[in-house]
Amino acid sequence: MATLEETDTSKGNSSSIYDGYQYRKHRINKDNVISWLCLKERTENCRGTLKSKNGIVLNVSNHVCKPDIAEIEVKKRMSGKIKNRGQRNTQYLSRRNAAII
Ligand SMILES: [Zn+2]
Repeated sequence: MATLEETDTSKGNSSSIYDGYQYRKHRINKDNVISWLCLKERTENCRGTLKSKNGIVLNVSNHVCKPDIAEIEVKKRMSGKIKNRGQRNTQYLSRRNAAII
């Protein structure tokens, strides 16, 4: 099982990083499944999407864009908001989800 790292953009929107791709939150359905759209949707016409529930990645579609690991590492360091990298802190994730819903 893979977990999703969620962070906030400077505009206060939720975004996330997974497997080298960056996503922005699109919508949440009635089952609390969050749909994420690739951030390169507009710039590179990428149709990559990700679905997650309670911080767990359910499904990832194919991307036409290339993941930019270096750029993402820089963003992670600058934001300082992503915690528990590589750890599964379910309590933290569920609290975050409760706040969103
Ligand atoms: Zn993409």
